[in-house]
Amino acid sequence: MQSIKSVAAEALNARMTFHSDYCNKHTFTRGSEDVVKPVRMMILNGKVVCPRCELEANEKKLQRDLESQIEFSQRTKNFNMLEKHSMFRDKTIAQATFDNYKVAEREETANKGRTMELVGYLKQGEVFNTFLQGHPGVGKSHLAYAALKALNVPPDPDDPKDMGKSCLFINMEEAASAIKDTFSNKESKYTESYVTQLMGDADYLVIDDLGAETGSEHSDSRASDFIHRLIYKVTSARQDKATIYTTNLTSKKLYQMYDSKLVSRIMQKQQYIVFKETSDKREMELPF
Ligand SMILES: [Zn+2]
Repeated sequence: MQSIKSVAAEALNARMTFHSDYCNKHTFTRGSEDVVKPVRMMILNGKVVCPRCELEANEKKLQRDLESQIEFSQRTKNFNMLEKHSMFRDKTIAQATFDNYKVAEREETANKGRTMELVGYLKQGEVFNTFLQGHPGVGKSHLAYAALKALNVPPDPDDPKDMGKSCLFINMEEAASAIKDTFSNKESKYTESYVTQLMGDADYLVIDDLGAETGSEHSDSRASDFIHRLIYKVTSARQDKATIYTTNLTSKKLYQMYDSKLVSRIMQKQQYIVFKETSDKREMELPF
């Protein structure tokens, strides 16, 4: 039996034979002079080629392939933002899509349809904010995340200018407590500037559960200066970008909790999706 090596050598011999011509493009340096080193041409698959030129062309192609892979992985960073950098209070939200948003009630059907319709406008490049308001457990966060899933478009591998779309889901309470943690924990990367930059940079951002981060949802107190500063920074960076908010708060409560300039800014270019009738999906049947 022939070894693989000898079969390969035979095949190589069959297809490659030396030719009488030489390639004179290759040089080496002797002292300060470039000296031409003739390379004998070969016949490869019926074609006369210079083996050095072939090798160099292959290396260049490999280099280009590698560069385009690196370049593409840079471009997919945007696309990966949603999965890599979102901050949840309830991690099951990461599974939310329009398909698994189950509708049983009239209002849910209408609000799901309206959210999908707004996503369609955003995809066409319109810029506006969306406000999903209603009491807890009606699926506002689910719809908001589903919207991001639909807006999270990967870049076109063949178009080097296409950066794809970056999306980010940030639960405000999580973000606020992660940032506060960095005041004493210097190891954490979730500094105020890191988190606000992420939130400012995303093409589409969900600010989940606005108001819960103040810890005063059920009292009359106002949001702290820290929370105000945080939301100011993010909304300033996002004046030409679409943001989706979810909240349990009524507009009256929002004005009570935040300063009115901030509320007006949040309410700019706003589309509203309001839940009034939908029942709490998280309520369990309990025997008492
Ligand atoms: Zn050559």
